[in-house]
Amino acid sequence: MKVARTVSLAETVIEEVPDPVCGPGEVVCRVLACATCGSDVQDFYVSRKLPAVLGHEPAGEVVEVGAGVVGVRPGDRVAIHHHSPCGECRRCRRGHETLCERFRSTRLDPGGFAEYVRVQAELVDELLPLDGMDPVLATFTEPLACALRAQRRTGLAPGDSVLVVGAGASGLLNIAAAHAAGVEAVWVREPSPDRLARAERWGATAHGNEPVDVAIVCTPRDDAIAAAAGALAPGGALCVYAPPPPGSPLAIDGNAVFMRELDITASWSAGPADMHRALGLLARGAVRPLELMTHRFGLAETGAALAAQRSGEALKAVVVP
Ligand SMILES: [Zn+2]
Ligand SMILES: [Zn+2]
Repeated sequence: MKVARTVSLAETVIEEVPDPVCGPGEVVCRVLACATCGSDVQDFYVSRKLPAVLGHEPAGEVVEVGAGVVGVRPGDRVAIHHHSPCGECRRCRRGHETLCERFRSTRLDPGGFAEYVRVQAELVDELLPLDGMDPVLATFTEPLACALRAQRRTGLAPGDSVLVVGAGASGLLNIAAAHAAGVEAVWVREPSPDRLARAERWGATAHGNEPVDVAIVCTPRDDAIAAAAGALAPGGALCVYAPPPPGSPLAIDGNAVFMRELDITASWSAGPADMHRALGLLARGAVRPLELMTHRFGLAETGAALAAQRSGEALKAVVVP
């Protein structure tokens, strides 16, 4: 089969590799669509993984199931999660399921930018049937699930106000998720006029200096994180949603953290329950993100898809092998 292997931050090459072999308890899927993600082009984050077949937002069609697999069968179309927590360890029990050792060690083989993926046994229970959903729409399951998890971790509730900082795809999905959860006061900060206008169409209001209960910062910029912390109302919560590079101190006033009892948190990836909820929101049309899919490429053009994501030309690019 063909895979798109990213060999450096600037280069992705097409390679011919052996087809994946389906072991006991495993599933092999033909990739129907796989979206690019901001994390695929964030230099410090991705460079430690390279060379690699990237792509962690795939939807696929089951083509082979291993011995003992009962949940899916060939022909089923599924959203595929790339990690699976054990559900039992200390981190899982404390609600940090995405820090679980099993979560961090499970992955798709070789990755979503390929003709086929092998879904290892631990991930098979996480396959979510599409029930007729467009596979391109289904690629939003994982990024939307990440937003749902972040909002859960901040305790965001319907009567609260939320500030979303940065109106790229992640910010817009956070805006949509907040509305779907019944949050009416949704503010946005975004320097690009085009992106701000889109966020306003998605139901957010340009933020001035209104105090907010929750701030979700979808950019790693330290000044944006600090400014968002400054906007928190007493008892507010800030979520670092995009990873700052290693060694980045947060310029947040410690006195304010104490006197105003601010929660500073972060959210990395998404767990099974978030994936489930996200697919449900997409299926019901409670979140309609397809307009974010600004670019579409074949597998051979995966490098161009990543480049369009990197430059910001694409909000989201999808690879359809
Ligand atoms: Zn992602
Ligand atoms: Zn665990």
